[in-house]
Amino acid sequence: MINVYALCTGSIELDRASMVSDLTPGQPWTVPVVSFLVSHPRGKLLFDTGVHCQARLDPLARLGPERIKRLTVKSREGEDVVPQLARLGLTPDDVRFVANSHLHPSPIDFDHPLDYRMLDGEHDVFGDGRVVLLPTYGHTPGHQSLLVRAGKQSQIVCASDACYTRENMDRDVLPKILWNPSVMFESLATLRKLRDQAGATMFYGHDPAQWETTPRAPSPVV
Ligand SMILES: [Zn+2]
Repeated sequence: MINVYALCTGSIELDRASMVSDLTPGQPWTVPVVSFLVSHPRGKLLFDTGVHCQARLDPLARLGPERIKRLTVKSREGEDVVPQLARLGLTPDDVRFVANSHLHPSPIDFDHPLDYRMLDGEHDVFGDGRVVLLPTYGHTPGHQSLLVRAGKQSQIVCASDACYTRENMDRDVLPKILWNPSVMFESLATLRKLRDQAGATMFYGHDPAQWETTPRAPSPVV
């Protein structure tokens, strides 16, 4: 039995046009930062880790001067990964694997003595085809999304920053800041096929409208 839980691991405010690039700039927008906990019989996987709790208290020190020009941290107390895991009765030690869709370049976020495994291409986390990391490059060179086959009729895809919102996918519009637009369009098309042809439920990386209707931990999304 596989369960998937949605965790709120931050909220940020930024210009809506930075996320959907053909909109008129100047509309501030608060969006969720979402992580997922997958509970598989062979262990638990955390997909993405959100905004560090220090970013709420001291954004300049944690995010740096450039990033805070573009976004404001709006997270409330408890909207970061450790207290969100606690909603499921878990501590970080209960999590066997952590997969990051991508990292942003602040070494304080990732330069730790952890047992990192660099992946290239698809990766079947538990070896049974049910929890699979998918290459969805474009936002960053090695960005990955998560596919969970929770049951015969139940497939979930967590797009992360390969697709910020439903609007990006429906209208085929990219965000402003990205690594490679043509590669990102290809990834977006791959994800759209999973949603529209394979019938997967798509969780977008930062979609406030979707988040409103998403069951939150401790309730599972499946
Ligand atoms: Zn990103």
